[in-house]
Amino acid sequence: MKYVDEYRDGKLARKIAGKIRDEVRPGKSYRFMEFCGGHTHAIARYGLEDLLPPNVHMIHGPGCPVCVLPVGRMDDAIRLARRPDITLCTYADLMRVPSSDGMSLLKAKAAGADIRMVYSTLDALRIARAEPERKVVFFAIGFETTTPPTALALLNARSQGLKNFFVFCNHVLTPAAISALVGDPKAAASVPLDGFVGPAHVSTVIGTKPYAEFAENYGKAVVIAGFEPLDVMQAILMLVRQINEGRHEIENEYIRAVTPEGNVKAQDVVAKVFELREAFEWRGLGAVPFSALKLREEFAAFDAEKVFDIHTVAAQDNPACECGAILRGEKKPVDCKLFGTVCTPDNPMGSCMVSSEGSCAAHWTYGRFRDAGAAREKVDASFSQKRLANQKAERQAS
Ligand code: SF4
Ligand code: SF4
Repeated sequence: MKYVDEYRDGKLARKIAGKIRDEVRPGKSYRFMEFCGGHTHAIARYGLEDLLPPNVHMIHGPGCPVCVLPVGRMDDAIRLARRPDITLCTYADLMRVPSSDGMSLLKAKAAGADIRMVYSTLDALRIARAEPERKVVFFAIGFETTTPPTALALLNARSQGLKNFFVFCNHVLTPAAISALVGDPKAAASVPLDGFVGPAHVSTVIGTKPYAEFAENYGKAVVIAGFEPLDVMQAILMLVRQINEGRHEIENEYIRAVTPEGNVKAQDVVAKVFELREAFEWRGLGAVPFSALKLREEFAAFDAEKVFDIHTVAAQDNPACECGAILRGEKKPVDCKLFGTVCTPDNPMGSCMVSSEGSCAAHWTYGRFRDAGAAREKVDASFSQKRLANQKAERQAS
């Protein structure tokens, strides 16, 4: 298939891997974060980490909208859905995300709540038109990619005079999240990064310009990359070259889809409907200033938070779940005790195991046998250490 097959060519991938191996400097460590879940998925699916030299480290970022949605907002959605007058429309991934009391939208649906899975905002609008006696709430989540369709749905609802369509808005912003990772000294010290593989879909909408501050103010290399394996490998090579040459710039590997300005029409539609929130809670990152959108006052009649008086209460994740640390890049899925034991895609204990873009789901789907090996090695190593310590203690005692 055009624009797909040529970016999955194994020979070319090995060739780029050879260049990366030739160009990395021995003894130097290269630490790159792939912000997007789409890249995490591609890295796991095509085994790209196996092609990289050991001193190039890929660190998973918080770029999966399902993963970063805090538990308190899931609780809000479930409370809304349980009201007898409300039909909650949502994308499939959100159905299985656990809430604070182990509930989920799927379980609430099984218990009688009117929750419908939709493929687009248009489906939700259609339901609102067809069932005027129901209050139809669209549970809107996503980065800059999914915001324009929500904005269009709201413009359509207004022009069609719909009085029973509402949006529970959870749209979040990519550059603000990257700022939280590199701008906060504590976060930057705990996960030192040399650069980012920048988002693909998001960048088709916002362009390359919003990333400039990360190069200029924080000295990070950024390469915007597509989601095919060769895109990711080429981006890593470009990042390695920037670091070796002492550069920190915004480069665009994904020129077939991303321009410096992005999709200006989509940006205009979003600006008509949404404005910045002062702060928004992210799973793993905490409250991040100006990192999310809310409906403008002129759309208040469609704003589920205002109409249904939603006041989000921060809630705790499952204490054994390491999603927060994984989303900050501090840990890998295999570091979580529940990974592959209690927590699997069939029985997710945290959001990172639910969405296909989540790190845990990607590792489970494509790398669990390797991960299981790593976990076994860890257990074996600690067992051997204990055995050696016991032998030493016995020798000293005798
Ligand atoms: S939709 Fe695409 S660009 Fe957006 S977070 Fe997911 S992978 Fe990244
Ligand atoms: S394996 Fe499950 S419980 Fe552990 S961090 Fe991932 S989602 Fe959370």
